[in-house]
Amino acid sequence: MSNLQVSLVELIRRTSAEIPEDVHKAILHSLEQEKKGSLASNAMAIIDQNIALARRKSQPLCQDTGSILFYVHTPVGYDQIQFADTAREAVKEATKKGFLRQNSVDSLTGRNDGTNVGIGAPAFHFHQHRGSELEARLVLKGGGCENVGAQYSLPNEDLHANRDLDGCRKVILDAVLQAQGKGCGPGILGVCIGGDRATGYELSKTQFLRRLEDRNPVPELDALEQDILMTSNELGIGPMGFGGKTTLLGVKIMAANRVPASFFVSISYMCWAYRRQGVRLNATGEISDWLY
Ligand code: SF4
Repeated sequence: MSNLQVSLVELIRRTSAEIPEDVHKAILHSLEQEKKGSLASNAMAIIDQNIALARRKSQPLCQDTGSILFYVHTPVGYDQIQFADTAREAVKEATKKGFLRQNSVDSLTGRNDGTNVGIGAPAFHFHQHRGSELEARLVLKGGGCENVGAQYSLPNEDLHANRDLDGCRKVILDAVLQAQGKGCGPGILGVCIGGDRATGYELSKTQFLRRLEDRNPVPELDALEQDILMTSNELGIGPMGFGGKTTLLGVKIMAANRVPASFFVSISYMCWAYRRQGVRLNATGEISDWLY
């Protein structure tokens, strides 16, 4: 096995079994906030036990492997085809070792060949950069939470949402309401204002690459993120929809250019099993740094 494949298997193992530190911190904080003995507090305690068990046993945090999404920044001239081939082999190997549950099926036949590899799976998002090192980030995006993602086209008459930030706020809060009791909350929202239907969703997922504690450098978006987080947590939906103070752990919003005729707000919902990791690799494919 090449150095690169060994590194990618380890990236997959750690992404699948170990919740990132920033997410764990947010979960522990919300556990403290919930009333002792409440359903919400018990749900958060079970989530915390699950996190500890998965880490100890190097086993998947959740039985749903989710969509396997690679975000890769490569030096100019790097062989991306070779990377993708190696990453597919790494996914097969990680699946064989039990780091990923066999969870990818042919959409027409429903057949599961047990490898987690197929058309469009895993998915790759390549970008070139001027640096000399390769950065590979991985997100495992659960299916239950993917089902409650939503895309709104503004204006939306039913919600009285116009083509402005207040309109965006209304539809984002509507998505939180629609997701209640589904999607394995507490959730994290990744939102893109603008773009087209495809890029809007794609860019909304890049927001999951941000750390939970970071702040948006765009003041209007930062204010909207804080507002949605606070307002959602006052709705009383709570973990798994059991009631309580923790409906969301974080909200991350970006804006992309759009054409004047369209105004989409694309919302991706991440469940508590927020599996995201990243590595910096040296020229020989060994891990030089963990990114989270
Ligand atoms: S939505 Fe998340 S926590 Fe729920 S089953 Fe899927 S991966 Fe697991």
